[in-house]
Amino acid sequence: MTSDTHPPATILVVDDVPENLRLLTQELQQHGYEVRGVLTGKMALTVAHSTPVDLILLDVRLPDMDGYEVCQRLKANQSTASIPIIFISALDESLDKAQAFAVGGSDYITKPLKTIEVIARIKTQLSLVKARLQLQQFNQDLEAQVQQRTTELAQANQALQAEMQTRQQVEAELRTSEARYRLIADHMSDLVCLHQVDGTLQYVSPSCQSLLGYDPETLCGQNLLSFCHPDDVDLLRQCFQPPTAPEPLITSCYRLRCQAGHYIWLETLARPLSNDATQVTGVVTSSRDVTQRLNIEEQLRYDALHDSLTGLPNRNWLSQQLDLELVRCRRQKNCQFGLLMLDLDQFKSVNDTLGHLMGDQLLIAVAERLQGCLRETDVIVRIGGDEFVVLLENTGDVQEAIQVASRVKHSLQTPFNIQGRILRTSASIGILINNDTYSASDDLLRDVDIALYQAKEGGRDRYEIFGTDMFQMTLKRVNLENDLHSAIDQHQFVNYYQPIYALPDYQLIGFEALVRWSKPGQDLIMPGEFIDLAEETGLIVAMTQQVIQQTCEAIQHWQHHSLMTEDLRISVNISGQSFRDPELLPMLDQSLKKMAISPQCLTLEITERILLEQSSNILDTLTKVKQRGIRLSIDDFGTGYSSLKYLSKFPIDILKIDKSFVDEMTENSHSIVRTIVELAQNLNMSTVAEGAEDERQVQELTALGCDAVQGYFFSPALSLAAATKLLADLNLRQSG
Ligand code: C2E
Ligand code: MG
Ligand code: MG
Repeated sequence: MTSDTHPPATILVVDDVPENLRLLTQELQQHGYEVRGVLTGKMALTVAHSTPVDLILLDVRLPDMDGYEVCQRLKANQSTASIPIIFISALDESLDKAQAFAVGGSDYITKPLKTIEVIARIKTQLSLVKARLQLQQFNQDLEAQVQQRTTELAQANQALQAEMQTRQQVEAELRTSEARYRLIADHMSDLVCLHQVDGTLQYVSPSCQSLLGYDPETLCGQNLLSFCHPDDVDLLRQCFQPPTAPEPLITSCYRLRCQAGHYIWLETLARPLSNDATQVTGVVTSSRDVTQRLNIEEQLRYDALHDSLTGLPNRNWLSQQLDLELVRCRRQKNCQFGLLMLDLDQFKSVNDTLGHLMGDQLLIAVAERLQGCLRETDVIVRIGGDEFVVLLENTGDVQEAIQVASRVKHSLQTPFNIQGRILRTSASIGILINNDTYSASDDLLRDVDIALYQAKEGGRDRYEIFGTDMFQMTLKRVNLENDLHSAIDQHQFVNYYQPIYALPDYQLIGFEALVRWSKPGQDLIMPGEFIDLAEETGLIVAMTQQVIQQTCEAIQHWQHHSLMTEDLRISVNISGQSFRDPELLPMLDQSLKKMAISPQCLTLEITERILLEQSSNILDTLTKVKQRGIRLSIDDFGTGYSSLKYLSKFPIDILKIDKSFVDEMTENSHSIVRTIVELAQNLNMSTVAEGAEDERQVQELTALGCDAVQGYFFSPALSLAAATKLLADLNLRQSG
């Protein structure tokens, strides 16, 4: 019986004896086989080719062809070659068993057939076929599996190769980039280093040689910290700190020791290297030599706080230092300090007469001498021009400060020898002792300056100690300055005119215009109270313009009323600042033109000091004034720094003899006035004496040959109305 699960096997039975065929077919069918029976060889071939046959029972002897040939043909055809063929032959027939196997037969059975044997042999053959088929299938499956594995392997291999290729490419790129970076590191002037986290050097760029003098190779393996300046070790360590920010870049500035032994400043950018986000494996640093830049910065800082001429600390330094002192005094009890502010007396005239170079040399020499007479703790500061401040540390006693001031005064008494010239100088000194009312350096300097101003006002070469009364006076001065501004704006200055008479006949030859300040609701203010301040503040220039303007208006008024003869002249006082003002001449021209008056009516009174400047500008202005026909007069002649040499160089017409010399005249001694008159005569100049108050003086002046005089003996300065009346009276008298 065949298996239930499989379709029954189909067996082709080939036998030329119909009875045999029938019996065999029956037997086989009974055993569950599908049977096809044929009588000839040809039929056998046709059935085997057209229907699926699992096994053939083939009789050797057949009518049309023998069983061997049938077998041979079936084996020769691919579709039937695998069908197992069992030969059948009668026992008495000759069965060539060898041939049966040679043509492809699988087995043979001899007749008479025993069913049990036939079935057993059939089963064996079918099992063999089945086993062969299974083996074939197994082989096929195995082959398919091998094929699939091979394909997978090939793909994996391909992927591996691609990956290797990529890696090789990346490696090549890395090598190129490393070479490029190394090339950059090798050739850049900055120092590039690779450190371990403890600072040990792993790589040092060749610039190390030029920057520090070391061979880069010898530095590898050493720790940079051992080359660092002891004071900067902590700064350098910062570079090796674990990063704190997400983009860690540490900047640090420290000094490294060069092979030659000196230190240079390096500014370093450090970037930690990490294998992942947390672990730092090393540090890359890039350092630049900033020694020169820091030196320049240091020099600039020094320059900002020091005076280039004397090398002393300057005003900026003093302000900073005073602020620090004030903070210190707020914290500590019994902390006090003193200040001396010095101003050299008449220093300007040294500059004016001997030139700035000599002035500078004198300042240097003074600075040196001052340093010599101070205590170690005292600091001397040049705050500008000829002004110095001495900071007296830990000085709470005004007597101590006075002692220092006296020593300073005393030290300056010895003349200075500057390039072979003997120069004398003295200083006015303000003294201030700090107290707890001060909170700003400016206030300290303001008050010591007030004390200095007082010392100067008091006659120079002396000291004054600051007191609150001085502050009040300064306040008054500040108010006066404000008032002066509005006086100019509101035209509060008025001219008074003091008559000048010729000697010996007392004929009126002119007036001196003298300014007064007519402040509403107040008595007239005399020039002695405001001229100096007007000069200091520069307001004198505007004031002089108004005086000239008024003078021209007065002349025009008098001429218009025929009160002014041609030889009458009005003198106007011109201060140094006004004389140096480039607007003076254009302004004079304009005023004369506006009033249509002749320049001959004017005389300008200037001081000796202007001539002492000896500048070409001054000479130029003097010449231009002269060219216009305006006369020039030297006021208060003999009180300044007379040097007779200069007088002849300038186009001067008149010397005004100062009142002090007129006052000094006694019956026995007229020497100064006489000298001035003789000098004027020799230089072809005329003289006007000032301040003659009595007849004796007038007579003596006449006797000495003085050309003209003004003074209370004749008249004080008169208002415009009074001067006009004087002219009118004279006019009347002459015409009468
Ligand atoms: P100064 O130019 O030497 O003027 C002479 C001063 O002596 C005037 O004082 C005058 O009033 C005064 N004086 C005249 N005769 C006598 C006298 O017999 N006895 C006494 N004791 N004094 C007499 P004033 O007007 O107070 O002027 C003082 C100074 O102010 C002037 O001295 C001059 O340097 C200056 N000043 C006056 N007005 C002006 C001006 O408009 N511009 C400029 N830049 N300075 C002026
Ligand atoms: Mg005068
Ligand atoms: Mg005078």
